[in-house]
Amino acid sequence: RADVIDGEAVAAAVRESVAEAVSRLDEVGVTPGLATVLMSDDPASETYVRMKQRDCAEVGIESRHVEIDTDAPASELFATIEELNDDPAIDGILVQRPLTEGVDEPAALRRVDPRKDVDGFHPENVGRLVTGDPRFVPCTPLGVQRLLTEAGVEIPGSDVVVVGRSELVGKPLANLLLNRGDDADATVTVCHSKTDDLAAHVSRADVVVVAAGVPGLVDGEMLSADATVIDVGINAVGEGDDRKLIGDVDYESASEVARAITPVPGGVGPMTRAMLLKNTVTAAANQAAVDIDLGLD
Ligand code: NAD
Repeated sequence: RADVIDGEAVAAAVRESVAEAVSRLDEVGVTPGLATVLMSDDPASETYVRMKQRDCAEVGIESRHVEIDTDAPASELFATIEELNDDPAIDGILVQRPLTEGVDEPAALRRVDPRKDVDGFHPENVGRLVTGDPRFVPCTPLGVQRLLTEAGVEIPGSDVVVVGRSELVGKPLANLLLNRGDDADATVTVCHSKTDDLAAHVSRADVVVVAAGVPGLVDGEMLSADATVIDVGINAVGEGDDRKLIGDVDYESASEVARAITPVPGGVGPMTRAMLLKNTVTAAANQAAVDIDLGLD
């Protein structure tokens, strides 16, 4: 039966190293600051933002929250982003998506100063990742990469199949693992909704990362015996007391076959949150131009 990759435990270790980095920065008079911007009535987004603020408090990062009325013109959101760009107390800016309907999301993300873009969504940071010179990499792909190394996967030379081609997960992850490096250098295949024979690709993969938002898309029958499976999907199923979160992988059958697998919840989710903290501390060190060892790996 597959080893369970404990995302909570790895995320706790990342948070600990971030807290240590924060105290090293404190010694040279730098306090990292993250701004979250919410322009949405979506309760899930409100919860995510609150969790991010709590995470910041836990490791000593200051956080500031700005809420924009959903009836306000987009110009108000843009002006807020510009103010945060100019504010020296703010090192990272996170514009919570999805924004309320009618607001041009790419335009908003382009306004974030790329040096404060801890989500890694600004085209400059996307371009840097693609050209092999990454600055800020989106948090979920970073978290997936770290889980693979912690699970002892030899990524260089491995066959990685990424299921999903979103700008948020699939594409940046594919680029990250395709780049050069000890924790990259993979042969990457990206599958998506128009892929002809998903099972054929998945069955020959050493590593399968599923980020599709489709429960049960990948099951044990599709996997090879020594595959490592990372389930990014988060799907709410059931009603009332039966309501629960499941991933995109059929956990029961997959864990009968695979070498190692992430659970949902408790796999990729906590890693995404931890990597935001790491990116924020890195942003603070870069902006303060301090030349100290943060101890982050
Ligand atoms: P998305 O909807 O933007 O993209 C889904 C991708 O899956 C698309 O590229 C699509 O082509 C592909 N896809 C859909 N159906 C498919 C099929 N039948 N076969 C093959 N490919 C198919 O979603 P996203 O933002 O990338 O998120 C994907 C999932 O990951 C969602 O469940 C989301 O909630 C979850 N997620 C989790 C985290 C986390 O921290 N754990 C972070 C981001 C997203």
